[in-house]
Amino acid sequence: MRWWPHTAVLLLALGQSGRTCATGFSITYENVPADAQSAVAHAADIWSGIVISNVPIKVKVSWVPLFGSALGLTLPNGRRDFAGAPEPLTWYATALANSITGTELDPGEDDFDVFLDATADWYTGTDGMPGSGQFDLVSIVLHEFGHGLGFVGLSKKDGAIGSLGTLQASDFAPLTTSFPWPQLDTLPSIFDRYLDQQQNGPFTLMDNPGTQLGSVMTSGQVYFNGPIAMADNGGVAPRIYAPSTFALGSSCVHLNESTYPNGDPNELMTPFSDPGHADHWPGPICIAMLQDIGWTIAPDVGIHGTAPLAAATIYPDPATEVVHLATPTPMVAPRIRVIDLGGREVVAARSGMETDVASLSAGTYVLELRSEGRSVHVPFIKR
Ligand SMILES: [Zn+2]
Repeated sequence: MRWWPHTAVLLLALGQSGRTCATGFSITYENVPADAQSAVAHAADIWSGIVISNVPIKVKVSWVPLFGSALGLTLPNGRRDFAGAPEPLTWYATALANSITGTELDPGEDDFDVFLDATADWYTGTDGMPGSGQFDLVSIVLHEFGHGLGFVGLSKKDGAIGSLGTLQASDFAPLTTSFPWPQLDTLPSIFDRYLDQQQNGPFTLMDNPGTQLGSVMTSGQVYFNGPIAMADNGGVAPRIYAPSTFALGSSCVHLNESTYPNGDPNELMTPFSDPGHADHWPGPICIAMLQDIGWTIAPDVGIHGTAPLAAATIYPDPATEVVHLATPTPMVAPRIRVIDLGGREVVAARSGMETDVASLSAGTYVLELRSEGRSVHVPFIKR
């Protein structure tokens, strides 16, 4: 096969607050058309404003015919028991391990490989407006990069036997990774450590390999019990995709499709995508799960992109007397204030979800909601 290696480095700064907290991506392309490269770069740009790492994230993106109806597949490189690893005997996606240690643990290797289906009808624009039969490439790459950053488990089921950490390179043939396949040593990933089945408890307390693990993996009752994800999800563990027939690469590594359908703010990390539909934000649950597994998230992440605006809404808009803010999940100790378009505070911060705007002159303002060190900014009109 002929291929044209090309490396692009993206280093983007978030302008809103003057902080430089963006993460650099170094992407190597193999056979990826130029317009598709733009879509990949756009997805990397979105992630660069969400996760914080001072070690550039190295990604290889290949354009290949994929099996069946697969649109993309990601194989992350991994590290375990590195100096400073939060959990022993646990795999971390290398991009995450690098960010935790602040050092490059895999010099000369890619952090993850992304394979994109060369035969799909792709929409490569970055405006989220695919045609009715087209798959939005930015959305798919955003999803795949989520796996590369560590939204990934090592579940496998052979017959009745389930296991964590027995995956082999041959499980993904004919695809091959650009880095040496790690010997997984029957160990879980940090993502797997949060998988929990309500009746039987955490995956990691079960025999591995074992039949109990096998049955819970296809029980339809798998949840992610990370504390931040649960707090973001109204105190309930987000539901993980675990259909009655095990699907390697889909089962136990995604949010549940029917719980987070198209249009839900958390739809990005579900296993299926519909054509004619775009989603350019990972959603609050995914971001919280990444925090649970060890990622540092940009403090003003709510500002970046438009999707958080779908999660936090204002009413009424336009407003005359009082503005109310609504979020799909309860917030801890919310504080809101109003700033003008020049960033000047016009209504001082107060606690609660509503604020008096009667004294403001007519115009456009921004309502800032802060909770647990994170914030969102929602514009509204004062009449
Ligand atoms: Zn996926």
